[in-house]
Amino acid sequence: MSPSADTANFRVDDADSLVAASLACPACLSSAVSWQLERAIHEPSAHCSCRRCGHRRTLHLSPEQALRLALHERRPLDPTPRPGEMVRVFG
Ligand SMILES: [Zn+2]
Repeated sequence: MSPSADTANFRVDDADSLVAASLACPACLSSAVSWQLERAIHEPSAHCSCRRCGHRRTLHLSPEQALRLALHERRPLDPTPRPGEMVRVFG
């Protein structure tokens, strides 16, 4: 399977759960995804690898999104939705 490429669709001020949803595996919908930030100045991206099915993809990021993900290299994303946070997804 060749790696696919997508553009991240979370906003910088999104809750953890929405960022995690954006990183989730598009093949099996698992949120058990390992990712590594590629700190390219003009085209930052995250290399994602699904721990469940092995699907790999490159997620293209805006510089702001890359900053947001950089915060989570030390503090893991909390994928648990809190009341009110999922409104934007389904609204
Ligand atoms: Zn998967």
